[in-house]
Amino acid sequence: MNGHHPCQLLPRSPFHLSQISKLMQTEPSDKKLVIHCPRCRKDNVFDQPYMYHAGFSDQGFMYNDNGHCTLVWSSYDPVIRQFFPPGRYMSEDSALREHFEQALRPSPDGGRWRFANPPRCLYCSGPIAWTILQQIYYLVYPESIITDQNNRLDLALQLITPTKPTA
Ligand SMILES: [Zn+2]
Repeated sequence: MNGHHPCQLLPRSPFHLSQISKLMQTEPSDKKLVIHCPRCRKDNVFDQPYMYHAGFSDQGFMYNDNGHCTLVWSSYDPVIRQFFPPGRYMSEDSALREHFEQALRPSPDGGRWRFANPPRCLYCSGPIAWTILQQIYYLVYPESIITDQNNRLDLALQLITPTKPTA
């Protein structure tokens, strides 16, 4: 935990759009989130209108080791129920979290996914927001893995050893 209040990272208005075309390779959108890096002062531009609230959509998330990629899952994914049985809480059980992290395939850049990894500045790699252990809002980087898109629950595809659905 650091001493910053989350509101310091809420989107600023008006947005600074000058670097979007350089950063974003997806279709242009007029809804961009800009996070001002507290370390290098540069603007990190995200292709999302605001920081997503994982609790509102029953999601979980974590970042990879370099903090430039996000893994998102649904709380209803059977893999989550397998690794975090009823009555055991993700936020309170570091042994279960570690077990889950070690079961995951490496992130696209080869680093590991870890609950304790913060999202990091694309320019200087300083932390620019918080982990799921600190607060519930998350950022989606390019190349992120969103396992609950299109009403799917595909977290099992991110496991080193795929699991069979439980009855
Ligand atoms: Zn920075």
